[in-house]
Amino acid sequence: MSDSRREFIRKSLLLSGAAGLDVPSVLKEKSPVAPDGDRLVLLGTQGGPFIRSYKQSPSANLIVYKNAPIVIDAGYGVTFKLRDAGVNLSALKYIFITHHHSDHNLELGTLLYNAWIAGLKEPIHVYAPVGVKHLLHHYWESNSFDIDIRIKDEGRADIRTLVVSHEIAEGTLITNADMEVSALKNIHPPITESFAFKFKLGEKRVVFSGDTAYCEPLVSFASGADYLVHEVMNGKAVEEMVKRRPNASKLKASILSHHTLAEDVGKIAQEAKVKNLVLNHFVPPDDQTLTDQVWIDSVRSTFPGNIIVGKDLMQLGL
Ligand SMILES: [Zn+2]
Ligand SMILES: [Zn+2]
Repeated sequence: MSDSRREFIRKSLLLSGAAGLDVPSVLKEKSPVAPDGDRLVLLGTQGGPFIRSYKQSPSANLIVYKNAPIVIDAGYGVTFKLRDAGVNLSALKYIFITHHHSDHNLELGTLLYNAWIAGLKEPIHVYAPVGVKHLLHHYWESNSFDIDIRIKDEGRADIRTLVVSHEIAEGTLITNADMEVSALKNIHPPITESFAFKFKLGEKRVVFSGDTAYCEPLVSFASGADYLVHEVMNGKAVEEMVKRRPNASKLKASILSHHTLAEDVGKIAQEAKVKNLVLNHFVPPDDQTLTDQVWIDSVRSTFPGNIIVGKDLMQLGL
């Protein structure tokens, strides 16, 4: 890694609050996005849907490329995190959803609604597993009173015609002059329609694992990626957590079936020879003994490269 890149990441860590500072106001209220160049922004890094605090909210990520914001997953809190990342919601054009667990899609409808209220004029494309049309249809239904009134009363375009939803399969989702986006089925039983995403942005590659058990095909999918954003689980802490629950054995089996142990995350990153491994979607999410150093140490045994412990609003240059 070059000195300037190292310095950028150091500054990003400071800006993100990773060093204990609050998110500074300079990141807020810029339009359409803060003019900081192409970047990856982690919006929500918590695993699971339980809401604890604003500091770490459920899954959501942002790529800003050529000044265009692209959202990957829309867990609860994504709208406020986008505002704090300086994004003008009416500039949104693409939203990608890895799977239909609520910690990844709960705020999809509301994010679209909020983009509409912010002045969305151009179509917005949602790429998500089968079920997204059903989900949005019922979201619009449940909010039709407000939407219909605002169309009539405020002269707004109909949000229902501005949103274009695409139910995805494995393979290439988008190819255009700016980017290529592809999807890989990951391992998330009992959900069968769950995906990892790869964004090719010029020379840069950013890969999101989604929620997945150890997924060997990710090695070639993420090969040489500039950033692999991978979910991560601490096996010992999961053991401790389930001991406290009445449904321990069922819960443990469920968690282990669709998440990846830290050591295996490192293995994937090493075999894929990624330039930076970004940890997110921490499981369990609420164990105070799991410090940044613990996460780094548990991945370090299998991955000697650059490990970044993800924090909400952390910015990483592309
Ligand atoms: Zn999840
Ligand atoms: Zn999930």
